[in-house]
This record gives sequence, structure tokens and C-alpha cells, in this order.
Amino acid sequence: MDIHIEGLVKTYQSEGRTVRALDGIDLHIPANQIFTLLGPSGCGKTTLLRCIVGLETPDDGEIRIGDQVVWSGRKRIAVPPEKRGLGMVFQTYAIWPHMNVFDNVAYPLQVRGVRRTIIREKVHRALQFVQLEGLENRAATRLSGGQQQRVALARALVAEPKVILFDEPLSNLDAKLREETRKLLRRFLTELKITAVYVTHDRVEALALSDSIAVLNGGHIIERGNPQKIYFNADHRFVADFIGRANLVAATIQDQAPDATIVQSPLGVLRCQKRDFPAGTPVTLCIRPEFLRLSRPDPHGRADSSGSMTDTKSSNVIEGRLETLDFVGEVYEAEVRVGDQLLLARVDPGVPVAAGDAVRFMLAPEHGLLVME
Ligand code: ATP
Repeated sequence: MDIHIEGLVKTYQSEGRTVRALDGIDLHIPANQIFTLLGPSGCGKTTLLRCIVGLETPDDGEIRIGDQVVWSGRKRIAVPPEKRGLGMVFQTYAIWPHMNVFDNVAYPLQVRGVRRTIIREKVHRALQFVQLEGLENRAATRLSGGQQQRVALARALVAEPKVILFDEPLSNLDAKLREETRKLLRRFLTELKITAVYVTHDRVEALALSDSIAVLNGGHIIERGNPQKIYFNADHRFVADFIGRANLVAATIQDQAPDATIVQSPLGVLRCQKRDFPAGTPVTLCIRPEFLRLSRPDPHGRADSSGSMTDTKSSNVIEGRLETLDFVGEVYEAEVRVGDQLLLARVDPGVPVAAGDAVRFMLAPEHGLLVME
């Protein structure tokens, strides 16, 4: 089931002033997708989720779930939460501490008066899916955090909603369990063909889990797209910066080549990803640290202190000096001085360089992303 949101506005009164938590949101969430609302704290993610589920009353706009209008200011429609047919999984596990695993999961079916044999079968299937079979009689309080969250997932699933809303459901789990549960979640949402609206401020979670991501800021949707589009091809500086670590450098469009856009920048003249900006346009050049590829160190140790490019202009070489080199596990993280700029780069272990060395980085034009300010 898909979700249509049009012109949604929600304000709060707080300490004598009006906070516009949602400032005219237009959004289509396609059926059977994992759709993530991503953005910094306070951008309006939870408010949007709560408006969809019916726990907040918007000021204006319309929300449609499938063919049903569940809220409309103009049409004076407000379907109560329990009649919207949605499941919800919160950050806190919200399972009943006085019940065992079976009764927790069975609860939504019991309140609907479903027959006992059917309940048993459905609970068994849901527990199998979240890999908790065999723990039916365990008291909910005697489960680990990850297991409790999986009970909450099974309870949301057993009711077989067409849409499940998730509000940072993994944020209380440790890193390893978070990753495991994320994979499990992706598998079962995809297999069961459920529309999932997922709120997080964790960019890795958003990239790994989602079919589509909408990035919010200040009550607006800044940009939406699949994870690859958002990571590699963002249209906005805010999005490029928020979704991953990035070197952001002010640049000016110099020329257009058939397959690249050429910019002037403090790193030199560089061929970048093709973008349709006229010559003279000020832009931000965004280079992710992993795309600065270290080529052989200069055997003569040369790299002038201004970092300006030499005869290598056309081959997209950036020359600088390594200021720091930190081992962070699978790679070294390097800070590279190029004139006034300090760039973050990743260097493979085993490459014989040290702080103070002159270095050269290659930049493939497709990894020089140009975004508007
Ligand atoms: P977080 O990631 O921190 O949970 P969020 O993106 O989910 O943030 P919201 O909780 O939707 O953000 O809040 C959006 C804005 O509305 C914030 O400025 C917040 O302070 C404000 N807000 C939210 N709920 C209320 C409320 N009940 N009363 C007043 N202001 C509120």
C-alpha cells in the first residue's frame, strides 16, 4: 500500500513561539518499499511519522494511505490511529514485561478475537521469522535488548499490516547486534512485501537498509532518491555533507567538456562529474575521502607548499603534503595539506608513506561531485 502526503504542515507552540516542525511536506511513499526519513535532530522526522500514524494532528494538508484519506484539513477527515491499519515499532522495545514472549506477540491477534489455533500458527511463523522460535515461554524481561526488539518486530508483523512505521528501532542496540538486526529486518520486510517507513538519523543504517531515502531539514524535504543517488549524486550541499564524510571545497565552473565539467578550485583545475551549470557559477566541489586515490609518492619529495598543480593539470592529480596519518582499522585516515585546504583521505595500510611526505592523489572525474551552495 502506498502513502501520499500533500502540503502537510504541523506547528507546535513552545515557550511563546511557534515551531514549524513540518513546513509543507509533499511526499509519495511507494508500496512495498523501505522508505527512510533521514535528517539531523529536530528536522521533523518523528513528527511526520506520528502524523502518518495518527498520534499528531497536522495543521493543514492531506494524508492518504492506499485509497483511503486518513487525514485532511480541507475535507475535515481524521481517521483514528487504530483504524489506519498500520503497525509501529518504537525505539524503546515497548513490550509487556509481565507477559512471556508468546503472549506479547499474540496480543494484537488476541484483542481481535482471532481463534486460538490460528493465533498459535501465526505467532510461530512470526517468531521463526525473527529467529526466536523456542523462546515462546521465556519471560519478556529475561531477554536481551536485541531479543526484546525482535519480539516487538514479531508483534508488529503478526498483525500483518500493509504498512509498518519504525522510529529509530535499532538505536538502543550495540553496534554488532544493530547490524545483525538491520539485515534481518531488510530480509523480512522485502520478503513479506511490506511498506516500511523508517526514521533514523544514522546515515549508514539509512544507506544499508533503504530502497529510498528522503533527507529532511528544518521541516522540509531537501532531496529524495535511492541510496546510491543520495551518496554519489546528491543535488544539494546539505545532503552531500550529511550522508557521508566529505571534503567540501568552493569552486567555480570554468568550462564544459562533452563528458565532464571543468572547475577552478584551490586544488587546481579539475575535471568533475558532468553537471549542467553555466561557466562562472560558484559551486561546491564535494570529494569523499575514499575517492582520493593515492598514487606513487613523488620520488623527489616535491610538492610546493601552495599545493598548486604542476604539469599534471589535465590528469586530475592533486598534490599535497601529509599532515597526519591515523590508523583506524582497515585503513589509515590521512589529513593532506593542499595550500589553505586540509583534505581528508583514506590510505591503504602497506602504502609506504608517513606524515610529512609529499603525496599525489588521483581524482576520477565521476567522483568530483559538484553541488549548488
Ligand atoms: P530527533 O532525531 O531528535 O528525534 P526529529 O527529526 O524526529 O528529531 P521532531 O521530534 O519531529 O524531530 O521535532 C521537530 C521540531 O518540533 C523540533 O524543533 C522539536 O523541538 C519540535 N517539537 C516536537 N514535538 C514538540 C512538542 N510536543 N512541543 C513543542 N515542540 C515540539
